[in-house]
Amino acid sequence: MFIGHYGIGFALKKVEPGLSLGLLIFGAIMLDILFGLFLLVGVEHAKIVPGATVVSPFEFYDYPLSHSALGAVILATSGFLAYWLWPTADRTKRKRPAFVLAAAIFSHFILDVISHTPDMTLFGNNSPGLGLSLWNSLAGTMIVELGLLFIGITLYMSATHSISSSGTYGLTLLVLMLIVFFIANIFGPPPPDIISVAVTMTIGQFALVAIAYWVDKNRIANRPGRRS
Ligand SMILES: [Zn+2]
Repeated sequence: MFIGHYGIGFALKKVEPGLSLGLLIFGAIMLDILFGLFLLVGVEHAKIVPGATVVSPFEFYDYPLSHSALGAVILATSGFLAYWLWPTADRTKRKRPAFVLAAAIFSHFILDVISHTPDMTLFGNNSPGLGLSLWNSLAGTMIVELGLLFIGITLYMSATHSISSSGTYGLTLLVLMLIVFFIANIFGPPPPDIISVAVTMTIGQFALVAIAYWVDKNRIANRPGRRS
């Protein structure tokens, strides 16, 4: 899945207004950020197979760290602990947002199971694979991805309001970029090689996270974050 993950990041701002949209989106796409980096250094592997599914020309045959259920649990737990136990912060107020961040991280696995063919393994290579193959339906992919993004943005906008023109135009820019990248991914030609995919993925995702941080700095939550 692609922009559906961003939809979850947007939506969780409603659940925990104390967390920046940038951090929530970073959590929701963390598995793909790691996958891009692991592809670059040769730790994980995928290949381009035009027509592999109706909307995605990739065969993901070796990504046990970033995209297994076990990997997702470990990453979500690490995200929880890192946020909760952050050395310079007051721990008593951070358990709830830490849990929301962990939920953002683990949500990636669930959404990818919906999209992918059964290549999302439980414990890594040679363990059972999960995948509902939504990518074999163009209409289904468009409805689910755009639907999740739309719901997420609606919740984000109801949870925050703009305090400068950047908060309004920045949000519009972010949403337009996501939709353009999504459409280009589906209807554009297959990429030339997997390394250019990894480079584009890594740079593009960090850029989108940075823009999300900037947008969130120019909006404030309508209610303060509830902490526990
Ligand atoms: Zn993924």
